[in-house]
Amino acid sequence: MQRIRSEQLYEEAQEHIVGGVNSPSRSFKAVGGGAPVFMQKGQGAHFWDVDGNKYIDYLAAFGPIITGHAHPVVTEAIVQAAHNGTLLGTATEHEIKLAKELKAAIPSMDKVRFVNSGTEAVMSTIRVARAFTGRNKIIKFAGCYHGHADLVLVAAGSGPSTLGIPDSAGIPPSIASEVITVPFNELDGLRLALERWGNEVAAVMVEPIVGNFGMVMPKPGFLEGLCKLTRDAGALVIYDEVISAFRFHYGSAQTFHAFPDQSLIRPDLTALGKIIGGGMPIGAYGGRADVMAMVAPLGPAYQAGTMAGNPASVLAGLACLEVLKQPGVYEQMERLAVKLVDGLQQSAVRHGVSLTINRIAGAFSTHFCNHPVTNYEEAQGANSELFAKFFRLMLERGVYLAPSKYEAWFLTTAHTDAEIDETLLAADESFLEMSK
Ligand code: PLP
Repeated sequence: MQRIRSEQLYEEAQEHIVGGVNSPSRSFKAVGGGAPVFMQKGQGAHFWDVDGNKYIDYLAAFGPIITGHAHPVVTEAIVQAAHNGTLLGTATEHEIKLAKELKAAIPSMDKVRFVNSGTEAVMSTIRVARAFTGRNKIIKFAGCYHGHADLVLVAAGSGPSTLGIPDSAGIPPSIASEVITVPFNELDGLRLALERWGNEVAAVMVEPIVGNFGMVMPKPGFLEGLCKLTRDAGALVIYDEVISAFRFHYGSAQTFHAFPDQSLIRPDLTALGKIIGGGMPIGAYGGRADVMAMVAPLGPAYQAGTMAGNPASVLAGLACLEVLKQPGVYEQMERLAVKLVDGLQQSAVRHGVSLTINRIAGAFSTHFCNHPVTNYEEAQGANSELFAKFFRLMLERGVYLAPSKYEAWFLTTAHTDAEIDETLLAADESFLEMSK
């Protein structure tokens, strides 16, 4: 497959755009480097690059594009929004509609505020939790990604009961020292941290179903225990559902059937993004009415946005949710994901490739290892070189995966059996190459 134009554009891009990309996760650094593919257009479950090559897309733009590219209902909503003014800077009726839709699907959200990205949503929940509790510290879980705000780009210190260290240059140690990072899927680290810092902790932040070191379910009892320990310490529970909301069913992780008693895992605040904007920039956060009453103009916690709740994002979000509400939509994505995962697993076994797949409904992650992946350490233990090789071999065969071993494969409403069959053929050839 020739990608001469992509290579030329990458050269040019690097002269003008830092690193040639506008988000590091778009670069191919984690899969051996070189020019990333420059895409020209997406339609349904496919991408076309600037050299005219066609790919089946499992990136779904890192999650938001669950209805496939350029879905007519979503496109029409954006066109309508543009005709009526992309940004009015005033309150609009559509914002109420989307807020009501989110509240109906996620009952822990009494009140909602729209922002422009998942990062902003997360940042805002932290400010509100701090304002409400009068405390400063945050506990988060290793490997969970919550956007690029200073407070959540913090890595674990030397042990579960130690303060965090900056996970990026430019983050002052004083900020990192407000964050404690503990292991996911075990309660001992959290318990220890709360014993030591409990009365200073404003909130415990978690991806209730993880999407950032592969797809990882919480073990039975983990979320229940997390909520109880957190409440006992007088802190708030924040769920980062930027990936998980509307990904597995029409609702969020906190309302997913996998959790038998949802009253035990109810968060105080939830951060949203990605799917709820139908591919347009959006974020939202919300939660308990008394906690959200801290937010300006009602309360003393300031949070604002020129672009927030803009009509194009809100209408695209409503259109996307309308598509997802159609009967059978999630069942179809799950059926295709099961078929794909079963096929990948059989093919890997046939070629002697060690592969662990974590699937949750219509999303899954592939880890080149022979052990389960239930936490970040286990995900780190998967073979990066093998993933990079697989990624390249699949790319050559017209299958576009996220360029990182930690990212998921996302099915969309546009994928069909034909794409799955084609992908399985490509994977079988790739595994054969890898086994040589
Ligand atoms: N939270 C989670 C769980 C995410 O996966 C992401 C992005 O991937 C974010 C927050 C940040 O969202 P955004 O990239 O829209 O700022």
